[in-house]
Amino acid sequence: MDNYNSSGQNISGTFSGSYKGENGNILLDVVIKENVITHIELLSHTENPGFNKAIVQLTDDIITSNSLDVDIVSGATLTSTSFIKAVEDALKNSGINPSDLKDVSTITTSKDDYLTNNCDILIIGGGGAGLSAAIEASSTSECKVILLEKMSFAGGNTRMSGGEYAAPGNWVQLNEGILDDSIDTFFNDIYYGGKEKGNPELIKVLAENALTNAFWLRDFVGVKYKDTQSWYGGHSYSRTLWPEGDGPKYVDTLISKAVDLGVEFHYNTKANQLLKDGTGRVIGVRAVRNGKIIDYVAQKGVILTTGGFGSNIEMREEYNTVWPTLDESIPTTNSPAIVGDGIKMAEELGANIVNMESIQLYPINNPATGNYYFLDYARLNSNAILVNKHGNRFVNEKETRDNLSASILKQPDSRAFEIIDSTVIKKMNLKETYSSEISKGLAQKVLTIGTLEECADFFDIPYDSLIETAKKYNSYSTTGIDEDFGRTSSLEPVDINGEFIMFAGVVSVHHTMGGVDIDKNARVLDINKIPIPGLYAAGEVTGSIHGGNRLGSLSMPDTVTFGRIAARSAVNMH
Ligand code: ADP
Repeated sequence: MDNYNSSGQNISGTFSGSYKGENGNILLDVVIKENVITHIELLSHTENPGFNKAIVQLTDDIITSNSLDVDIVSGATLTSTSFIKAVEDALKNSGINPSDLKDVSTITTSKDDYLTNNCDILIIGGGGAGLSAAIEASSTSECKVILLEKMSFAGGNTRMSGGEYAAPGNWVQLNEGILDDSIDTFFNDIYYGGKEKGNPELIKVLAENALTNAFWLRDFVGVKYKDTQSWYGGHSYSRTLWPEGDGPKYVDTLISKAVDLGVEFHYNTKANQLLKDGTGRVIGVRAVRNGKIIDYVAQKGVILTTGGFGSNIEMREEYNTVWPTLDESIPTTNSPAIVGDGIKMAEELGANIVNMESIQLYPINNPATGNYYFLDYARLNSNAILVNKHGNRFVNEKETRDNLSASILKQPDSRAFEIIDSTVIKKMNLKETYSSEISKGLAQKVLTIGTLEECADFFDIPYDSLIETAKKYNSYSTTGIDEDFGRTSSLEPVDINGEFIMFAGVVSVHHTMGGVDIDKNARVLDINKIPIPGLYAAGEVTGSIHGGNRLGSLSMPDTVTFGRIAARSAVNMH
């Protein structure tokens, strides 16, 4: 045990710390205010990029608890230990013994804070659902709206997505002459795509409101959409709109609208516990910011929009009954902030939790980071094919995410390789549009560009077999019948002699369909299906809509539809 030169006094300042990590030193600065750790700035490290998420998680845990006594992130033991040691080193340089850090439970709200934090509507979580709820509440009422976000920026998984939005009857469909899509077809796609486990009453609300809310996003919020759309697995029609600039621009547009409307954003503020009054009505939350406990009180309602639990390995393992394992060997596309906070808070209060075993894997992700490739957009819209390490196709590339993932998990090394030909590279302008992703992939050695033979060599795939596969696929495109896997969409031939982009992909936890049960007014239900007064929820934190599987591009219409409904219910104290 190190000896600390503890003065027993309150210490403030910025102190550097370092410790040897797996590959080199971890260097960081710790900002301390009167014995409270308020910020940890990571200056440099050479840990595996896959461990960034562990570092974010530990930073969050240390700041929230104002203590070094935090759980090691499973799957990243060495990085976790080194990171904590580096923070400990900074404390040593400050002269504070870890045991002198203030106990967070003794740091309470001052009278001034209490007044500031009184509002009408309190929204917990600034992703797509929280931002939609904030815009709706502030644009349709005089309510004071506060949005709590535990990270230093808003967006959650929505920011990390393409922002793609399925809407039957949308304006691009009309331009493309797709005139026979309908709410009923959309309803059936969602219901059967969700393995008949979703609540039909809620699916009806989603199906009926998706188009209206696409107009709301475009015409009221100011989201700019591309003139083209996509077809996603499980949808009967091509009906998916794409915002310009994907998830990041989509989220930033929503944030600026909310800010214009007067919504107060409280960043770095983590909600920890829902507060009730004597009648059982939810009246606010107890949150932590910079190691300080802050109580927020909402006169009209609290809306939970904290997202799912894809980054919480323990919860994944606890609830998974579908996949062979969801332990740390399976990465996630999720933000490290998405660890089921809202589900746990609501459950503690008696909320009904449903469909928790339904956890969706996204099929094609970067093996170095676990994040999806925006380049995979090509697979959805072109002749791109998937092969395994032996150079053989193994699935209909247009299958739903769960079926594709199940097939990939059965391949050698649980790995797929996506092949995109020169026609598509040019037509979709892939090199320019995805230049940064391509450069990163090249550096990480998970992506290559070259002739089919060069690509095969790079990934150690037998070329003979790969060329055979490409020729066979081309023969199916001539007859229009994929005799092996029944693919019907974009069955165009690949240009065997041209240049290819080829990248390796692994499955990642993408969406958790389970969560809190809500009714059609977005009221959170208790285990007797009775609404819990004052508590509303929307987005991935809810569990009753997508059932056993969420089809691609349904997240945005879900978050906007139920985010807006939750806001209206809270404003009217319904
Ligand atoms: P959705 O798609 O349902 O809107 P997202 O994943 O996009 O979900 O956003 C959820 C947001 O909630 C993220 O920005 C995340 O950081 C935030 N969040 C999660 N837990 C908490 C919490 N305990 N307190 C405050 N914000 C939270």
